[in-house]
Amino acid sequence: MNATNLIDFYNEFATEEKCADFLAKQRWGNEIICQKCGVVGIKAYKLASGRIKCAECRSTFTVRMGSVFEDSKIPLQKWFFAIYLCTSLKKGVSSIQLAKYLGVTQKTSWFMLQRIRYVFENGTFEKLKNQVEVDETYIGGRESNKHTRKRTKGTQGFGSSKTKAP
Ligand SMILES: [Zn+2]
Repeated sequence: MNATNLIDFYNEFATEEKCADFLAKQRWGNEIICQKCGVVGIKAYKLASGRIKCAECRSTFTVRMGSVFEDSKIPLQKWFFAIYLCTSLKKGVSSIQLAKYLGVTQKTSWFMLQRIRYVFENGTFEKLKNQVEVDETYIGGRESNKHTRKRTKGTQGFGSSKTKAP
């Protein structure tokens, strides 16, 4: 994500289609991996519905399949805006704040922050096997803002990278 300010972000992620293209590029680059047959670097066709058709097995799939966004109906634009906020705000963003920004319920924003944390920790949008749910509502915030029992050991002070989003 190259957006350095909100206007850049808005332009880069203006539509769901732009968001889907961004996700596809991040996940596969120029070598699209079929989410049905698993062949790497397939010849693919983009259908009007936005689904991708594999020339190898003739199945269709979406850019979300196999990613951490697979089982959510939240628009990608909201996901990427949440990620933008998590990487831009020094103190991180709480689920309450995020719910207000996105116009979603706090339950939804809490779920989103968990997933985003997972993305930051693993450095990928791919849904890895044995995905573990994490118990955090803040992303990238100062450790001192968290409840004592939630603080990660050895992360206090300057230059800590254990808990901060990249
Ligand atoms: Zn295929």
